Amino acid sequence: MAARRKKNVMTRAYRVFLDDLNQGKSEELKRFLRLCHDVMQYFMDLHWQRQDFSARLGDLPTIHCAVKRFGITTRLSQALCKQAKEFVASTRKKFKKRKPRLRRHVVTLFYHFVTIEPFNGKGFDWCIKFIGSGAPKMICPIFSTKPMNQKLADGWIRSKTIRLGLRNYRVFIDLLVEKQRPQPKAEGKVVGMDSNYKNGLVFSDGQNVATELHQVIQGFAPHQKHTRVEMKSMMGWAIKQIDFSQIKMLVIEDLKKVKHGKRGTFSRVFNRRLSHWLYAYTASLLVRRCQELGIEVERKDPWKTSQRCHACGKWDKRNRRSDRFLCVNCGHFDHADLNASKNLEFLGLAGMYGFRLRPSSKCQSFG
Ligand SMILES: [Zn+2]
Repeated sequence: MAARRKKNVMTRAYRVFLDDLNQGKSEELKRFLRLCHDVMQYFMDLHWQRQDFSARLGDLPTIHCAVKRFGITTRLSQALCKQAKEFVASTRKKFKKRKPRLRRHVVTLFYHFVTIEPFNGKGFDWCIKFIGSGAPKMICPIFSTKPMNQKLADGWIRSKTIRLGLRNYRVFIDLLVEKQRPQPKAEGKVVGMDSNYKNGLVFSDGQNVATELHQVIQGFAPHQKHTRVEMKSMMGWAIKQIDFSQIKMLVIEDLKKVKHGKRGTFSRVFNRRLSHWLYAYTASLLVRRCQELGIEVERKDPWKTSQRCHACGKWDKRNRRSDRFLCVNCGHFDHADLNASKNLEFLGLAGMYGFRLRPSSKCQSFG
């Protein structure tokens, strides 16, 4: 049965590919994953047809329908039905009207289907036992990952649930660890952050990390592979350099409103995609880090944050010339990204979503 997502619990997943698994077992798991995929798609179609967008447990007749149709156990049918409904509910939130299609082959397996124990002996770290109930019966010894060990050492608890999935014809297991969310920090500053891949992450308290990103991106050959992997690891490293000790709330741009097409090294389309991806990835890392430290993250409309003068509050298009910010009204001079991050900080302190008071009127002035 599906565990309800607990609100004040943080979850992190660590992926382990089962490349060492023998062919027979690997094929069996792939068959199982394809079956789960088909069953979930069936449930999704069914509930879409019924216009049932709740994420509640499926009703028994529906579950038995799939039991008969696919020859699976009731327990598996129930688990897959729940996951399918959750998927429908979540994609509906994002895209509204389009009927969702399940592309990934990923299934969450609860303790009815699988147990995890420390591996008895040398060579592996964990022993994953698939114990039936509709899933194949087998034992998979796997390695742990360094980041996961780190989390376990930091007091995170290993979940009894795993995710089993298929990616590029490789079977993987996501091991999950959980921890209670810390109390929100009471003391500290509100800090804004503006990011782009030219200047990295610029914080309104003066911190600036990931400054070497631009150089690295420029160094990529046009069709170089694994560039994202490299950028990911670099961004992860950069975020570790940030000193969060004085920060109580971090204010960042709302992804939904992030400006497209910042100037850069590549074609406009590639550039836009890259900056969007990079922004989303960076934001997710920051949110996680802040969650673990009890720091609140707020997302704000970035509209005019790069043109508004932080000192006098007036905005003008001419204020910004690439990296330089020079206010035509009061003469205030700043680095453009620092000025933007200070404007985000301002929004955080003021408790406003953005400077756009009325979305329809473009010439609204404020200050
Ligand atoms: Zn000014």
